[in-house]
Amino acid sequence: MRGPWKNLYKVKLNRVSGGDIICENCNNVLGHIEPMNYSYIKIAFVCKCKNIVKAELYRGKRPTLTHPDRKLYNKDGKYICQSCETPLFSVNEENGISFAFNAVCKCGVEYDTKFKNKWQDLD
Ligand SMILES: [Zn+2]
Ligand SMILES: [Zn+2]
Repeated sequence: MRGPWKNLYKVKLNRVSGGDIICENCNNVLGHIEPMNYSYIKIAFVCKCKNIVKAELYRGKRPTLTHPDRKLYNKDGKYICQSCETPLFSVNEENGISFAFNAVCKCGVEYDTKFKNKWQDLD
């Protein structure tokens, strides 16, 4: 399989497939994407420095989310798939003002923050 495909905006990752999410402006680590656990992830942060960063990664074909209505559960800062208990990413709350995401776990379950207005602000 080719990829992952990446769209990065004002952000660096320290691994090919994810890893630490680093603000290009101030080098703060905003969170961490588990490199092997997603089939699709789009995540955006407003950094403490006011920079808006976005990262979108996917393997294979870019999916259209059809029922992204479930919520990841948060345990010790890690956002975890309800269905297969896999952590998809974590967030360093002290370095960011806010964040939003869409994600598809490797098991196929789709997730969405439902912060539609926030996405419009970030897009
Ligand atoms: Zn920053
Ligand atoms: Zn899963």
